[in-house]
Amino acid sequence: MFEAVIGLEVHLHLKTRTKAFCGCPADPFGAPPNTHTCPVCLGLPGALPVANRKAVEYGLRLALALGSRIPERLVFHRKNYFYPDLPKNYQISQYDLPLGQGGALLLGERMVRIKRLHLEEDAGKSLHLEGRTLLDLNRAGSPLIELVTEPDLRTPEEARLFLQRIQALAQTLGISEASPEEGKMRADVNVSVRRLGEPLGTKVEIKNLNSFKSVQRALEYEIRRQTEILRRGERVKQATMAFEEGSGKTYPMRTKEEEADYRYFPEPDLPPVPIPQPWLEEVRRGLPELPWEKEKRYQALGIKAKDAEVLAYTPSLARFLDEALELSLASPQALANWLLADVAGLLNERGLSLEATRLTPLALARLVALFERGEITSRVAKGLLPELLEGRDPEALVRERGLEVVADEEALRTLVAEVIASMPEAAESVRQGKAKALDALLGQVMRRTRGQARPDLVRRLFQEALGVG
Ligand SMILES: [Zn+2]
Repeated sequence: MFEAVIGLEVHLHLKTRTKAFCGCPADPFGAPPNTHTCPVCLGLPGALPVANRKAVEYGLRLALALGSRIPERLVFHRKNYFYPDLPKNYQISQYDLPLGQGGALLLGERMVRIKRLHLEEDAGKSLHLEGRTLLDLNRAGSPLIELVTEPDLRTPEEARLFLQRIQALAQTLGISEASPEEGKMRADVNVSVRRLGEPLGTKVEIKNLNSFKSVQRALEYEIRRQTEILRRGERVKQATMAFEEGSGKTYPMRTKEEEADYRYFPEPDLPPVPIPQPWLEEVRRGLPELPWEKEKRYQALGIKAKDAEVLAYTPSLARFLDEALELSLASPQALANWLLADVAGLLNERGLSLEATRLTPLALARLVALFERGEITSRVAKGLLPELLEGRDPEALVRERGLEVVADEEALRTLVAEVIASMPEAAESVRQGKAKALDALLGQVMRRTRGQARPDLVRRLFQEALGVG
């Protein structure tokens, strides 16, 4: 029996207004190349960096949320290497005293320990075209958090789940969009395979995976590859690999620098500064409710465990649900059902995000309340949902169109008699005990009342008229 041992390195792009060490806008998205630059992030001689207080605060939020130890001083180091998209020839990063050390994230039963998380600056971008390389330095100097786990993950699914949890956490904390599709969350993985109970095998690093799906696929491929090598009695070679989306395979990249190659030394332009205790306390108090706390609260409100988990770790849904719950119009589980099934289904169908619609928590809560009070049927409620996405109010729609439930027993009794007369064969089947045939009769009544008849009442009237029950 073989098992995989996996560790992750996650980069999160922080959503500060300005870059990590200068006043340029931090979000390069969509700007013309090289317009968000200044002497500091261009690395011009004599230009001096200033640490972005907001970036430090965002890093602290994540460190506090994960239960990491915070140092007493903020210390930056230079990591020296030459890349054309790194004009200073070094990256300002952190080394032996990172912003957070230790801490953990729980994935069900599995505890994933955090080794460290530190603040650093991003490099620019090289665009290779037709034998030339063009540089865009808009991204150079943007603030990043690098988070490194201990090798506590065991399967590709766990790795994907961990990344989703970190994404949800970063979004809940408001520190990063954490969107892999925009390059605002990237991951490298370390993976080795061993026989159960044996010491760690040789690890292989896979760099620059830009979607959770790629992380999972790259790991699946790499674990298979290493397992086959071990089965043949050979040894895995230490390597840095890249993952090719098209073939779904990993292949070796440049040989990676050793730590000594980076010649880390304390950043002389940014002397260490204390992290004041009162400030740290203020950041701690300012933390929002964290996803795992939300999950517990939802469960305590009677929402099913699985639903509570999905909602708590989908920040856009959680925000919406929290506002709807505030109103106390509809039951928590009913709101959860509607959000996870009907609303999510409709959004998925139309390729929309919740924020891109005009659906409000108030409108959804009112719709669910109408249904829960028995004033409209579930069919009518579902039919109104698309209009709610366009900003309509459910109560107004129900009034305007007369969609209230038909619960007039006399009128429905007459309708039931008519349907029995028009469908004698189905009626006879029901009399003979074929309960399924009742659905056809029921369907007729629902059609004739445009879905507005109370289904339980119609069912009872049929049972009485046909002498079954
Ligand atoms: Zn700048």
